[in-house]
Amino acid sequence: MIYLSAERAAEEMIEAGKRLWLRGLVSGTDGNISCRVGPDRILSTPTGISKASLEAGSFVLTDLSGNVIEGKSAPSTELKLHLAAYAEREDITAVIHAHPPAATAFASAGVAPDVSATAEAALLFPDGIPIAPYSLPGGQELAEGARECFKGHKAVLLERHGAVTLGNKVSAALALMEAVENAALTELYIRALGGAKPLDKAELEKLRGLSLKRGLL
Ligand SMILES: [Zn+2]
Repeated sequence: MIYLSAERAAEEMIEAGKRLWLRGLVSGTDGNISCRVGPDRILSTPTGISKASLEAGSFVLTDLSGNVIEGKSAPSTELKLHLAAYAEREDITAVIHAHPPAATAFASAGVAPDVSATAEAALLFPDGIPIAPYSLPGGQELAEGARECFKGHKAVLLERHGAVTLGNKVSAALALMEAVENAALTELYIRALGGAKPLDKAELEKLRGLSLKRGLL
């Protein structure tokens, strides 16, 4: 696997942080972003900073066990969640955790978004968006619960908390986070209008075929 340099990874996370904040997917000092920059090296956002205010020197370098190698600040309180994703999926090099309002509303209500409501959602999430069970933020239990969901999904909701997306680059994880929130928001509008007729199985299979073809799974 080819890894980004720490400098390039930081640049991509600074850009992603701004976009998360501008789109209202995080507020205050919520959310965290990480990028794998070596076989046993993760560069991640520090705790207690707005994702709109990240700078080149903000980031914390750790190993895959969470030991700090370099960095002026403490790592994110959700670093365990990120490490669980890297431990489970060797194919991913970026993780984003955010609190997108509509997606979090679904997660808090215990309702998985109906991804067959739109073609786009069915294409991006053919196996749905699972909800990892509630557990204290920042804890190992939360990370373990999410890890189970990471086995077959790059987008996972956290009950009463938020969402996590994985990607083979920071921009891919960001695009997926935007798509999760878009799917949730669109479904809320659809529900307000009385609901949508679900896509039939044959059509969903065609969309899954397209997902495979485009390497989205
Ligand atoms: Zn959180």
